[in-house]
Parts: sequence; C-alpha cells; structure tokens
Amino acid sequence: MPIERNFNLTLNQEELLKILGNNFSQLLKKPKFSQIFCEIQSNLFQLFEPQLIWDLFPVKDLTPTGFLLESGVKIGGGPVKEVMGEASKVLLGICTIGPKFDEEINKFTQSGNIFEAVILESIASFLVDQVRETFFSQTQLKIKREGKFNSILLCPGESDWDVSDHKFFFDLLHPEQIGVSLKESMLMIPMKSLSFMIGVRNEPFRLDHKRRCDFCSLQPRCRYSQINNGRNLCT
Ligand code: SF4
Repeated sequence: MPIERNFNLTLNQEELLKILGNNFSQLLKKPKFSQIFCEIQSNLFQLFEPQLIWDLFPVKDLTPTGFLLESGVKIGGGPVKEVMGEASKVLLGICTIGPKFDEEINKFTQSGNIFEAVILESIASFLVDQVRETFFSQTQLKIKREGKFNSILLCPGESDWDVSDHKFFFDLLHPEQIGVSLKESMLMIPMKSLSFMIGVRNEPFRLDHKRRCDFCSLQPRCRYSQINNGRNLCT
C-alpha cells in the first residue's frame, strides 16, 4: 500500500486569512491577537507530520448505492454512484497531519487559552485539507499522463455518503500504518485526518465539470465554500 510523506507545504497566510474570513482579519489588527497568531505560526511545522496512505481498487459491479469491489467490499453512498459510477477503478486514500496538533489544541483548551485553540484548530484543518488537495492535484496529473481520466473527489461525511463507510476504508487501506485509528463513532484519530475516494476510467466522466461543493451537504453553512466569490477550499 503506497504511503506518501513528502508534503513540503508552506502556510499561505493570505489564502488562510481569506478562508478564515473578515472578522478574523479584523481581530488580527489588534497587537495581542496578532502576536498570538505569529507565535502559533512559528511553532507550526514542529507539529506537522503529514502522511497519506492510498491504493487503487478494481470495480466489479455497481450496487444500489455505490460499488462492489473485486475484493468483495461494498462501498459508497450519497452522490458516489452519480459522480463516479462509470469508474473501472476507485482510488481510496486517508491522510493525516499527525497527533501533535490534537495534543497542542487540547493543551490550549485545558489551560483556558481558547483563542489559541481556535486558531490552531483552523490552521490544522487548513493544512490537512492542503495535504489531500496536493495529493489530488499530483494524482490528477499522473492519471492524465497515463491517458486516463479521474472523477472529482468525494469524502464520506461531506455529503449524504455516510461516515460509517470508514470501516471499509480501514479494512482496505490499514491506515494504522500511518498512525490513524477509528473510533466507534467512525471518527478518525488524529482528529485532523481525512478520507477520500476518486474514480478512474479510460473515458472522461460525465460530471467532471462539477465540483465537490455541488454534492456536499455542508455547503449551505460551510465557511470554506465561497462558490459565490468564485473560489473555495476544496477542489
Ligand atoms: S468547501 Fe465545499 S466540499 Fe469542502 S466542506 Fe465546504 S461545502 Fe463541502
């Protein structure tokens, strides 16, 4: 099972501030908050331990909600079939930025430093998403070079695709190898971990002009989705 660890991300502060919104930018004009933000940023990459495990799985058949894989696992739900039902293979992946962010956020919360906890939480969410998006961009290029096509990327929990499918992700990928475990609630630990699925085939996908936000049930209240402004966090 391939594991990627080479994610040399830099924190694009301008991009981060756009996503965190105007109120946050206003807050940063106050010297006290600006100093806290700088301190958090300067320690950030001591916490950052990105890892991503992935693999390709051949599709045997369709089910009413998604795919029956050659391995016998049934996976999918919500918009999966509509978005990537034409796939001959699916690429499944799980990524994390490691446990140190959780530990640091807990420390801030327990010591009553709520502003620090909120800032670090937001930055950590941004970073783990960047890990997934970086992998997605690189994978798109690789698939294109092979003369194949990929679907848009979908994630359990971001749409009507139930997060309980994480148990199949774990059966297939064994992300324990990158330090990710699954709680009974189907939440992953470390908290800053994400899962995803991409369809692959020899012809273009019918819905490849769409974006993830078009299928995401979080869209009406998602502060990262800025479709009206022509940009968003997720591709
Ligand atoms: S940016 Fe779009 S896809 Fe990502 S969580 Fe928000 S609405 Fe969903």
